[in-house]
Amino acid sequence: MSVLKVYRPENESAVAETLPPAMAESPTVSNEPEIYSFVKWVEKLRQPDSQRLALRAQRLNAHQTCPDCNRAGVSPLMLNDGRMDSAGRLVPGSATLVGFHCETCNHEWPA
Ligand SMILES: [Zn+2]
Repeated sequence: MSVLKVYRPENESAVAETLPPAMAESPTVSNEPEIYSFVKWVEKLRQPDSQRLALRAQRLNAHQTCPDCNRAGVSPLMLNDGRMDSAGRLVPGSATLVGFHCETCNHEWPA
């Protein structure tokens, strides 16, 4: 059983700064504890891809009911440009969201 301790080191700021090469490399397999960097995590959150996913999630959340009939049966309309996994299935969240479709009254509106 492993114990994961999470803490924020005093000497590491949340603002992006250059990491020394020793911290940037992943440690080899050993019993030494691995310290995850908050800076790397903050940089990952600031990447455009994560902002695009957050905007997509906000749009999906904002359009859960039809503006015409106020029913909740709303489906997202997506382009056929999503990524496929190794089994040929669409990777969820990878296709471009262009609008919404009401399953009750067939009303459609842009995202
Ligand atoms: Zn509707």
